[in-house]
Amino acid sequence: MSEKKIIIAIDGHSSCGKSTMAKQLAQKLGYIYIDSGAMYRVVTLVALRNGWMENKVPDVAKVIEGLKDIKITFQWDESLGKNTTFLNGENVEEEIRRLEVSENVSPISTIADVRKEMVRQQRENGVNKGIVMDGRDIGTVVFPDAELKIFMTASPEIRAERRYKELKEKGLDVSFEEILANVEGRDRIDSTRAASPLKQADDALVLDNSHMTREEQLEWTINKVKEIIEG
Ligand code: C5P
Repeated sequence: MSEKKIIIAIDGHSSCGKSTMAKQLAQKLGYIYIDSGAMYRVVTLVALRNGWMENKVPDVAKVIEGLKDIKITFQWDESLGKNTTFLNGENVEEEIRRLEVSENVSPISTIADVRKEMVRQQRENGVNKGIVMDGRDIGTVVFPDAELKIFMTASPEIRAERRYKELKEKGLDVSFEEILANVEGRDRIDSTRAASPLKQADDALVLDNSHMTREEQLEWTINKVKEIIEG
């Protein structure tokens, strides 16, 4: 593919494989990959560690105050073929994927000041283009001028089934019902919050992968990239 570098924004519902596809795409194109959800997860982890969450309700003032002490970085792990997330130099990749973090992340991501700071950091990564970023507001807020915007979705049951298998494979003790409740609960909070709700950008292409394999969805997306770069 030509040297022209673009910004690719991938938004959509929880657990529909955005990160997997974004990662594969970035690798294939030699682009930077940023998992914006991991950034909200890190802030949530810090809030949980410090006792700034009670019954999924954050102490907003403390979380905002704490933002200045949070430095989030990513490193590509060649042997695992995935990005690793660091909080002030500490590898927190495993911890931020736990169900406790998943259960508390949506309330944290409704805080406008948290979003403002995350968006600032996300934009810094895109100044030279050649980036794939996935999240909820990438095509609408972070990079409204992204050359390619994809809105990914799949039915809640299919998404919960995929996440359930993933966590089970990691040996975690979870039930399908609690995963489904988490997926549906996050959809609801993410879509109805006041600050940057999850919504499809007008110029986004919809990719419903309920009945697609990873290979099929990657091929579909690569073709879209080609059309933009070569067309
Ligand atoms: O993508 P992931 O499921 O890891 O994101 C975790 C949570 O972070 C989402 O449920 C959502 O509440 C929040 N998020 C967000 N905006 C983004 C990315 C994630 O609000 N750009």
